Amino acid sequence: MPTARRSWWTWNVGKIAGIPIRMHLTLVLLLGWITLGYATAGASVRATGLGVVLVLAIFSVIVLHELAHALVARRYGVATRDIMLLPVGGIASLESTPARPAQELAVALVGPMVNLALAAVLLPFRGAFVDQLIYINVGLALFNLIPAFPMDGGRALRALLAMHMPAERATDIAAGLGRALAVLLAVIGLFYNPMLVLIGVVVWFGATQERALGHLKHAIAGVPVSAAMLRKVALVSPQQPLQDAATLLLGQEQLPVMEDGEPLGVITRGDVATALAHAGPDATVAEAPRHEVVTVAPSDPLDLVLDKLRHTPDSVALVVDHGEPVGLLTAEALAAYVALHERRAA
Ligand SMILES: [Zn+2]
Repeated sequence: MPTARRSWWTWNVGKIAGIPIRMHLTLVLLLGWITLGYATAGASVRATGLGVVLVLAIFSVIVLHELAHALVARRYGVATRDIMLLPVGGIASLESTPARPAQELAVALVGPMVNLALAAVLLPFRGAFVDQLIYINVGLALFNLIPAFPMDGGRALRALLAMHMPAERATDIAAGLGRALAVLLAVIGLFYNPMLVLIGVVVWFGATQERALGHLKHAIAGVPVSAAMLRKVALVSPQQPLQDAATLLLGQEQLPVMEDGEPLGVITRGDVATALAHAGPDATVAEAPRHEVVTVAPSDPLDLVLDKLRHTPDSVALVVDHGEPVGLLTAEALAAYVALHERRAA
């Protein structure tokens, strides 16, 4: 059974426009805690109900914001894997960055624009409850428009800069501003509000991650999969004993499972250990949990494959040439290629 994208930490809430909406467990706990807080503080059923409705309204606003990113990206041919709701907000996982800077700019700006539009629509209906929603929408729009990674404003700035300079330099500037903002938030937070320190840490890691990804993409731009793939790859069939898989996994991290020339998934040492513990030494490969496998061609550009891999946790890419498996592209192989490439360039 493939296990990818299913975890204890995320709950499926539903689908909008074909895009799965997921909720992180920490958010479910937070919502429960807020409700309990209202109830035990002696709030009336009505006040508790209003509090819950407000929190749900906030998350509906966040879903609309992320959905706007996803739908504009779809117009430019970029699919969205899912929208994840976290206590700190939402994340729409786009499968890649839109090809042209003008498209990236539109995708980035539409999220905050939705918040401003919602605030404008709510304006005629003012009252205590609606006012809170207006403040939240304006706040979300302003925070997201800060021109620094990983905020939407940072993406917009990167897109604008990339129209006039190499993409890598544009990424570095947006990421540098993100880190500077992170330090500023943390320092202010130390004096005024510990919550700001936490946001600063999240911003720092987000900016650093964007920068690393930008450099990686630059290093592998135009390079075909065949340059970085592992060429000696062992395969197993579902009917083979798990012991065979255990032996083969001494030589490689992931083992593709093939049946009638079709890849069913990959298994790792952890999967085999789990299956051996549950099913005993006579178990077959079919009884081990599998991870999703991505298939690519040797001539595919590495940067496109990287986007696919990033959104398929625990996955590897099986390189298939005219129906024949010829190699395996793993995160380790990719990192090794980049390390060698960077040293050569230096
Ligand atoms: Zn956004």
